[in-house]
Amino acid sequence: MYGFEDRLREEGFEVTKIDVPETSPKAKEFRSLCEKNECGEYGTNWGCPPGVGTLEECAGVLRSYPESFLVMKRYALDPKNKKEIKRARDDLSNSCRRAADMIRTFAPVRVLGDGGCRYCGVCTYPGGACRYPLQKIDSISGYGIEMESLLKKIGKEFIFEDNAVTLSSIILIGKARNDVPLR
Ligand code: SF4
Repeated sequence: MYGFEDRLREEGFEVTKIDVPETSPKAKEFRSLCEKNECGEYGTNWGCPPGVGTLEECAGVLRSYPESFLVMKRYALDPKNKKEIKRARDDLSNSCRRAADMIRTFAPVRVLGDGGCRYCGVCTYPGGACRYPLQKIDSISGYGIEMESLLKKIGKEFIFEDNAVTLSSIILIGKARNDVPLR
């Protein structure tokens, strides 16, 4: 559909069509974890809480998309090496942004990712509006989505490894516009 799946697979990603995720009953716990700011991204960008919106708003966003795809890749690296983790996150984000650009001509699209937006050197949050709303990536956990149960539904496990990390993004796709031909 729209050619993005093949492109992502060529780039080494696993792409799985999934049910559109819902905000988990544990979402408030996830928000409390965000507030502890162990990742250092809380309140620094429009893709993380509180800038990303309330849980009710995030749930409404999820309900507005009829289709979604999970994009995953296992990166062999030292999970304690922040530079390597950043490189892996950038790789996933950049590929998902390119995929979203391929879809956008035909249908509305939104990317959720592992962490905050990180598109600009310094985010405009909270003083100004997002500079590149089409490139913004919202936080999966900020939306209150529970990855463990999402993975379980497709027969996968959430695993921690000493020598690798598996990163995930979710691509939400809206109803195809009827003013452009479907591909
Ligand atoms: S695109 Fe730039 S301004 Fe918008 S949320 Fe991302 S980092 Fe912030």
